[in-house]
Amino acid sequence: MARKLAVIGAGLMGSGIAQVSAQAGWDVVLRDVTDQALTRGTDGIKASYEKFVSKGKLDAADAEAALGRITTSTDLGAVADADIVVEAVFENIEVKQEIFRSIEGLVKDETILASNTSAIPITKIAAVTGRPEKVVGTHFFSPVPMMQLCELVRGYKTSDETLAAAREFAESVGKTCVVVNRDVAGFVTTRLISALVVEAARLQESGVASAEDIDIACKLGFGHAMGPLATADMTGVDILLHATSNIYTETQDEKFAPPESMRRMVDAGDIGRKSGQGFYKH
Ligand code: NAD
Repeated sequence: MARKLAVIGAGLMGSGIAQVSAQAGWDVVLRDVTDQALTRGTDGIKASYEKFVSKGKLDAADAEAALGRITTSTDLGAVADADIVVEAVFENIEVKQEIFRSIEGLVKDETILASNTSAIPITKIAAVTGRPEKVVGTHFFSPVPMMQLCELVRGYKTSDETLAAAREFAESVGKTCVVVNRDVAGFVTTRLISALVVEAARLQESGVASAEDIDIACKLGFGHAMGPLATADMTGVDILLHATSNIYTETQDEKFAPPESMRRMVDAGDIGRKSGQGFYKH
């Protein structure tokens, strides 16, 4: 019998997680607050399957079958029979905590409760439930159908069984997992990219090298697919400033202290690709 997954939040990440999971044979219920959000999510999934089919990477019948495994609902009660729930709503701790509080009473005792948060401590989300040992971070990367990584985050009370179940789920949908053994700010991936972007921004702001040369150095010297400053522009300088500020607040480690150039860029609205100007003009 197919296993059941509930995904809460049909945005970029939630729809991506639903897409790869349905393709891997999971019965998926996708939940969002409005029908519009659900339609946007499922339209995105259909378009993505079609693209894979047109490129010969997915059989049309398999795409059809996968779509048939996805149902949608605006009712949170739809999560009731899920074996695993993955929450992928806005990156806001109150919203996430409210969801975890509500779903706890709806699901089975053995259901795994996962969050796709990129930075909120899993321990703080788990603490609002009566079963923190069942709560785990499953941090997928965007775009989910293309990106291989899932960062599994162990909260303070996450059990070994929960971590193993989360790994089994992520691997079943084709991902490779890394485990974050302690619930540190920024986990592993956001800490690494923050440290690199902060240092790159400092080198650039102090005139040591241009943005272009810093990025070329990382690409050609270390084989990175993209340089740190181009990555900051793509992700959003505001998003990375927020991430590194949070890590700095928590750790007081100077290597995460947000450089003045990043702070002023964000004040001025030069936040990268989405505004047309960041470290580069777009
Ligand atoms: P998004 O804005 O695309 O989607 C969020 C969705 O959540 C929206 O459709 C919204 O309607 C829905 N939502 C809000 N409150 C809800 C509720 N109470 N119940 C159900 N649905 C609700 O956001 P996203 O980019 O998909 O990010 C989701 C999560 O994944 C965030 O925690 C984010 O930090 C994390 N994340 C994002 C990325 C990325 O590159 N975008 C990468 C990794 C992790």
